[in-house]
Amino acid sequence: MADDWNIKTKLVHTGARRSQYGEMAEAIYLTQGFVYDRAEDAEARFLGAGPDEFVYARYGNPTVRAFEDRIAAIEGTEDAFATASGMAAVFGALAATLRAGDHVVSSRALFGSCLYVLENVLVRYGVEVSFVDGTDLDQWRAAIRPGTKAVFFESLSNPMLEVIDIRAVADLAHAVGALVLADNVFSTPIYSRAVALGADVVIYSATKHIDGQGRALGGVILGSRDFIRGTVEPFMKHTGGALSPFNAWVMLNGLTTMDLRVRAQTETAQKLAEALEGDARLSRVIYPGLASHPQHALAQAQMGAGGTMFAIDVKGGKEAAFRFLNALKVCLISNNLGDARTIMTHPATTTHQRLPDDQKAALGITPGLVRISVGLEDADDLLADLRAGLDSI
Ligand SMILES: *Cc1c(COP(=O)(O)O)cnc(C)c1O
Repeated sequence: MADDWNIKTKLVHTGARRSQYGEMAEAIYLTQGFVYDRAEDAEARFLGAGPDEFVYARYGNPTVRAFEDRIAAIEGTEDAFATASGMAAVFGALAATLRAGDHVVSSRALFGSCLYVLENVLVRYGVEVSFVDGTDLDQWRAAIRPGTKAVFFESLSNPMLEVIDIRAVADLAHAVGALVLADNVFSTPIYSRAVALGADVVIYSATKHIDGQGRALGGVILGSRDFIRGTVEPFMKHTGGALSPFNAWVMLNGLTTMDLRVRAQTETAQKLAEALEGDARLSRVIYPGLASHPQHALAQAQMGAGGTMFAIDVKGGKEAAFRFLNALKVCLISNNLGDARTIMTHPATTTHQRLPDDQKAALGITPGLVRISVGLEDADDLLADLRAGLDSI
C-alpha cells in the first residue's frame, strides 16, 4: 500500500513507528542504548540486527530509522543512512567507497566543504581526484578512464546554478563501472529524478530544505540496500557521524511540509527572477527557470522547475553589492539556504572567500554576485525589498 502512495502522502506518513501508546506525532526515541530481556537476546542482536532492531544509537535508532525510511521512499531508493550533517554524508559516502589508489572525477563547481574533502582530504589517503567543468561533457569524457572508481557532482551547482546532465555523466561513468554520487541539495528531493537518470548514490544536507526552518544539522546518504547496509553503514557506525534522534525528529517533521514549502519557494523564485531580469542595475540574473539560463532546457527536463535559489550580479562590484545587502529590510544576510526566511549570501567574501581570485573568476564568482535563497515570505514584499535595495546602490 505505502509503496503506491504519491510523494505528498509519503511525506506525511511513511516510516512512522507508533508505540503502544498510539501517539499521533512521531515519538522522539532519545536513547543511546537498548535493553534485552535475556543475555541470549543480546547475543542474537549482535549476531545480526533485523531492520527494526537496534543495538546502539551510533548504529541506528527508531526515530532516525523513521527519517531514513521516509526520505528513501521520497527519493525512490531501497535504503538510506542518516548522518550528523550534510558533510558527514558527503565524506561518509566517499570515504566508505574509496581506498588508496582509486581515481575519482568531480565537477569543480562545488560547495566549499565538498571541494575541501575532495581536494585536500581524500588525496592525503592516496585517492587521485580529477576536476572538470561539470557542464562540459567532453571534459568528463576525457577525465573518466577505465578503472575510475567514482564520479561526484552537485547536480545544481553552488552558487552559479549550473545544471549537470545527470544522465549523460552517469552513462559515461557506468561505461567504465564507476559509481555515480550526486550531491542533490540545490535540486531538493521534490525536484530530484537523480536515481531515474542514473545516479547510484544521492546525498542531501538535511540542514537545508528538509529541515527548511534553519534549526538543526543533518544529512543523508541514499542508495541500494547493498550499498547502504554493506558499504556505508559499517563505515558510518564505527566512525561516529550518526544523526541525533532529536535532529532526526526535526527532519521528519520538516519532510511533512517540504513539498508545500519547496513549491511555494520555487514559485516565488521564478517571479522574482522574472521581475528583476533586465533591471539596469544588474548585469545578470541567473536562474534555471529563466529561458536565458544556458541550461534552461536541461533544468526543465531534469527538475521540471527552476528551484528555490537564484543569483544576481550587481553592477558596481563589491561596494554596490554591500550597499544593496545592507539596505534590505526583509531579506537576511546569512550563508545558509533552504530556510523559510529569504537569505542573501555574498559568495566572494563568505562561502567562497578562501578561493584564489583566478579560481573565483573561473567559477564566475564575481565581486557583485549575490546568491538568494528564497523563503516563504510574500513575493510582493520580497520584490519591494529587493527593489529598495537596488535603489540604494
Ligand atoms: C550545505 C551543503 C552541504 C553541507 O551540508 P551541512 O549540513 O552544512 O554539513 C553539502 N553540499 C551542498 C551542496 C550544500 O549546500
